[in-house]
Amino acid sequence: MNALDQQRVGCTAILISMNSSLRRGTGGAATNLSRAPLREFPRAHLITLPTPWEVGYVQVYLIESEPLTLIDTGVKSAASHSALSAALDCLGYGLEDLQRVILTHYHRDHLGQAESLRQAADHLEICAHEQAVPMVEGFSVERDENLEDAAALVREYGVPRHAIDSMIAERERRIRSDPALCEPTCVDRVLRHGDAVEFKDFALEVIHSPGHTAGHILLQHAASRVLFSGDQILGGAVPNTENYYLDELPDPRDPLRRRPRFKGLLEYRHSLRKLRRQSFSAILPGFGGVVRVPDRAIRDALLYYEVRIQRIERSLRSVTAIGQSVTAYEIWHSLFPNDDPATQMRTRLLMVIGALDVLEELGQCVTVRRDDGVLLHRHAE
Ligand SMILES: [Zn+2]
Repeated sequence: MNALDQQRVGCTAILISMNSSLRRGTGGAATNLSRAPLREFPRAHLITLPTPWEVGYVQVYLIESEPLTLIDTGVKSAASHSALSAALDCLGYGLEDLQRVILTHYHRDHLGQAESLRQAADHLEICAHEQAVPMVEGFSVERDENLEDAAALVREYGVPRHAIDSMIAERERRIRSDPALCEPTCVDRVLRHGDAVEFKDFALEVIHSPGHTAGHILLQHAASRVLFSGDQILGGAVPNTENYYLDELPDPRDPLRRRPRFKGLLEYRHSLRKLRRQSFSAILPGFGGVVRVPDRAIRDALLYYEVRIQRIERSLRSVTAIGQSVTAYEIWHSLFPNDDPATQMRTRLLMVIGALDVLEELGQCVTVRRDDGVLLHRHAE
């Protein structure tokens, strides 16, 4: 577990690589375009666009039909803009020919240049899931980070003051030094699970698939069984899952009166288990080339988190065996003793909190509140 390899995609999206490195798309010989990489659905072209982050190139897709549609947009940067323009040019189009953008989710490497494309293409229709709309239309790095709530969440899960302060200082430093690479844009069409995104002679079905984010969607082409997966399923990597407070009042049935949260890992598990029951021919993801064995990618992603949930369950069991309970922070610290709280704690601690959410749902974790408000956990046994 200590060997987890994390790679930044943006401030909130961190991919956890399962291989030594992520592949950089399939690419054309001299361009960032892979024409019709799937025989099953030749109208889809894969375009790789640069990001300034360690993860490298994000994959977006041009669907060559009426209306001419782009799935995700890349970050807002000159390099990304000219790379997209060059790929479209190879296919005989200009940015002004785009008629529709479908966003799989709101992260900067997917939403980033949507508004710029609207400036280039008259009457461009931008589509996003209803739960993604608030962030698409109101995006800012500060809002995405929401440091006040992030601090409150980790405090509730036992992180000491000095570690919270160093984590927040590091996040503030990143916000100041990291260009936004994204701007908000209006959503013209709000998508919901089961909607059909129509083309001239076929449609893509919208599958709401929360986990990586709350409003993440997948798009399925029913005839070919090809799935566009955004960051929910990746080639050779597993996405992180979000975990944050919702703007809702506590559930009166919860004796601990906890603030409702978006529990990304819990949702991710449910979402992928539903997908496991389907049979896709191939997956076109946001990173990692083309996934040609979808069943294995879905199974591997589930297994990746299952192994970590079980490790956290064992850790809970061992402290319970000696009559103690433990905070999420203490679990994180025992699993990752060499991590720097400022730079490495957040993602892994959120995974521990996500695992405790799963174990609580499975009836394997009992949570109580200490006098100082911190949550303590023990195994239900
Ligand atoms: Zn993402």
